[in-house]
Amino acid sequence: MTALRPHQKSKALKPSSRRPAKELCSECGLCDTYYIHYVKEACAFINQQIPQLEAQSHGRSRDLDQPDDVYFGVHQEMMAAQKLEPIPGAQWTGIVSSIAIEMLHQGLVEGVVCVQNTESDRFQPMPVIARTAEEILAARVNKPTLSPNLSILEQVEKSGMKRLLVIGVGCQIQALRAVEKQLGLEKLYVLGTPCVDNVTRAGLQKFLDTTSRSPATVVSYEFMQDFQVHFKHEDGSEEKVPFFGLKTNQLKDVFAPSCMSCFDYVNSLADLVVGYMGAPFGWQWIVVRNDTGKEMLDLVQYQLRTQPVMSRGDRHQAVQQSIPAYDQGVTLPMWAAKLMGVVIEKIGPKGLEYARFSIDSHFTRNYLYTKRNYPEKLETHVPDFAKKIVSQYKLPE
Ligand code: FAD
Ligand code: SF4
Repeated sequence: MTALRPHQKSKALKPSSRRPAKELCSECGLCDTYYIHYVKEACAFINQQIPQLEAQSHGRSRDLDQPDDVYFGVHQEMMAAQKLEPIPGAQWTGIVSSIAIEMLHQGLVEGVVCVQNTESDRFQPMPVIARTAEEILAARVNKPTLSPNLSILEQVEKSGMKRLLVIGVGCQIQALRAVEKQLGLEKLYVLGTPCVDNVTRAGLQKFLDTTSRSPATVVSYEFMQDFQVHFKHEDGSEEKVPFFGLKTNQLKDVFAPSCMSCFDYVNSLADLVVGYMGAPFGWQWIVVRNDTGKEMLDLVQYQLRTQPVMSRGDRHQAVQQSIPAYDQGVTLPMWAAKLMGVVIEKIGPKGLEYARFSIDSHFTRNYLYTKRNYPEKLETHVPDFAKKIVSQYKLPE
């Protein structure tokens, strides 16, 4: 008789409502599978283990004496890029979808874990294992809601696949790396995106209702490098709302508690990360963390226009001023918000300095949130690199 794998013993423990991280659960999907057996070890909100998993995935953890490592994680290179022929309907130019398609076409993987949406709701995530380019394309564009990507891990094992690409955000990837060795794969590729301020489907509705002029027609949105939220609507029109005009007082509780206590904005454990915030406006930002990430990027180099990363400005004052403003839920009148947006766009941080601005703003906010709501977790849950970043600022009690 074949011995059971340890995780299979836990099948009886699997009520889908079970979430050991409780209100900090980000719905990553692990607990919907028999891999729940590993949850106390694997869950990003129960056992923060970024340095150990960095060493496992990249051969070393962040060097805390290297400022770019502290901010952007272990990396071999960074660049700004655009697809020469953008994919219509992608979040940006579709670099993520293109890499996935190329990996499938070239036979590097047999399947791709990605997130489509349900038929009735464009923002309701539906994780799938895509096996064709069409299925990958159907997953393009962000579903800006908590998505149970890892819920399909059982299907991966049952399918017998041995070579897999997983696309996902930081909390999903931390749990994935923790159980990677149990998946029985020959090769796992991980393509990550940065992620911040995610919400439940109900939270998303509240955000759209309080921020957009036409919530029902929003197709996608992004918090852009020009300090405005850009909404794309069904009719192709674009709506811009300045960050400083957001109704912070109404939106304070809209973000999921998991995202208010997350310090893995840059997806530290992916092989390759594709975002936008370290690149000039209109460009995507690419971080190659290891040789596997380089192999993935090389496949699509011929489809890309690239330029070196740049950095301009000084974020510190803007971050320090935003800390009490956010804490007190200050909302500016729209005329003042627009004016401030114009000024900060002209003189504010650009490129990597914009990314540092965004990381600093979110880490200081999340540190305060964790300290006030989960003081017993503060010491172990906040990684050393995040403590170093937060220590540059004066925080309220
Ligand atoms: P596309 O080719 O359109 O592909 C998008 C991919 O994202 C798809 O493969 C899909 O499977 C996956 N996906 C969609 N929704 C989810 C989800 N909820 N969870 C996991 N995977 C998903 N970049 C930054 O630089 N700064 C940020 O603050 C930032 N916040 C983000 C927040 C969220 C919730 C997400 C999903 C992404 C965020 N990104 C952020 C990444 C950025 O918005 C783009 O996704 C990235 O640049 C890729 O663009 P693309 O055109 O190449 O992607
Ligand atoms: Fe389980 Fe994932 Fe929620 Fe943690 S975040 S409790 S691993 S579903």
